[in-house]
Amino acid sequence: MGSALVVVGAGVIGCAVAAAVGDLFDKVVLLDARPDTGLAASWAAIGGITPQSDDFCRGPLRQFAEASRRMYPQWLAGLEAGSGIAVPFLDSGLLQVALDRSEEQRVQEQLVPQWVEQGFQVEQLDAGSTAHAEPLLSAAVLSAVRLPSEGALEPRVLMSALREVMRRDPRIEVVSSARVRRLTPVSQGVEVLLDSGDVVRGDRCVVAAGAWSSELVPTRPGGQFPVRGQAAELVVPGSTGYPLRHHVYCKVAMDDDTTVSSYAVPRHDGRVVVGVTYDQGRWDEEPEDHATERLLAALRMVVPSSRDWRLTGSWAGIRPGTADGYPLVGNADADGKVVMATGHFGVGITLAPITAALVRTILSGAELTDGQADALCVMDPRRFQ
Ligand SMILES: Cc1cc2nc3c(=O)[nH]c(=O)nc-3n(C[C@H](O)[C@H](O)[C@H](O)COP(=O)(O)OP(=O)(O)OC[C@H]3O[C@@H](n4cnc5c(N)ncnc54)[C@H](O)[C@@H]3O)c2cc1C
Repeated sequence: MGSALVVVGAGVIGCAVAAAVGDLFDKVVLLDARPDTGLAASWAAIGGITPQSDDFCRGPLRQFAEASRRMYPQWLAGLEAGSGIAVPFLDSGLLQVALDRSEEQRVQEQLVPQWVEQGFQVEQLDAGSTAHAEPLLSAAVLSAVRLPSEGALEPRVLMSALREVMRRDPRIEVVSSARVRRLTPVSQGVEVLLDSGDVVRGDRCVVAAGAWSSELVPTRPGGQFPVRGQAAELVVPGSTGYPLRHHVYCKVAMDDDTTVSSYAVPRHDGRVVVGVTYDQGRWDEEPEDHATERLLAALRMVVPSSRDWRLTGSWAGIRPGTADGYPLVGNADADGKVVMATGHFGVGITLAPITAALVRTILSGAELTDGQADALCVMDPRRFQ
């Protein structure tokens, strides 16, 4: 019998890992509870590649996130070569706009100095240059910063490419509708018990079950938790390309004194996805009309012509949150039979290539670079056990 790896969870992380390690094992079995791959958070994601604007990236994993962004072009090229599916990538950067003085002040006094100190590129745009850079924005926009390193893609297309890469690799077996109930490390490896009663055996197991990972490898209460997020898709009548030139973000102050984190991510074929909400502690995946209405109202303040765009759908997904905001990646037990790759919160798409590469290094036993060792210290899954 040859070597076998079991990967639990076929979201972007589990699929990226399985696709990256096929040559290390005679067999890789990827198990998912749902009827197909990529139907949970990775399906709900809006697709911003945000190694700079996400709060997470101003902490100790900054270089890890930047390295993931740098890997993206080659990673997507490899997926295209292995699947025949091109994943369109918008690499014009993120435009973070301010609609009022207090938001402008927050960006200029809190964010820009940190980005500059950390060596990120930031382009300052006054109202006129913002209008020139992104003509559909409201005339009320005061200013913007462009973060050229950021990008965007459509996660569902990315998942299709990963699915096809795995389908073409004879070493990878994807088993859907296979919910894992329990993992048991045994002397020869790991026994994975399914709800059906079947047992799948592997020499090692990677847990990439997103927000549900703590059911399989428990952490202390509050170590991992769900953060529901909602988004919606609109079609821009007559548009056949990217309706916006950038991925646009604005923290919008609403009339009821609340704020909306308004992201507008254009797609290559005339669609725009708008998000997002952050609903901590919620597991329900049904979208709510009132949340969609708030997202659309905020978008109309940033892009007034969006009132004529056609709403084609809304959805919600569950982000895997952690107590300190950092993922859980690395060995879950002393002998490394169970490896975790989860807890990516709002940056799982952004961090997928580097997470897969890091898990590959762990599973291969190759020497870690200094950067990898530092990142693993921060992401050590045992910190919440
Ligand atoms: C609205 C929204 C917008 C987002 N936007 C962005 C963005 O712009 N950029 C970005 O980088 N990230 C974004 N994210 C975050 C991103 O979606 C997640 O970080 C990422 O998808 C997590 O991937 P994952 O593979 O860990 O989890 P998931 O995609 O949730 O996959 C986990 C899989 O494990 C399976 N599973 C769970 N339990 C079991 C079990 N017991 N047995 C078998 N299978 C099991 C599930 O069925 C699921 O398929 C967004 C998330 C949301 C909700």
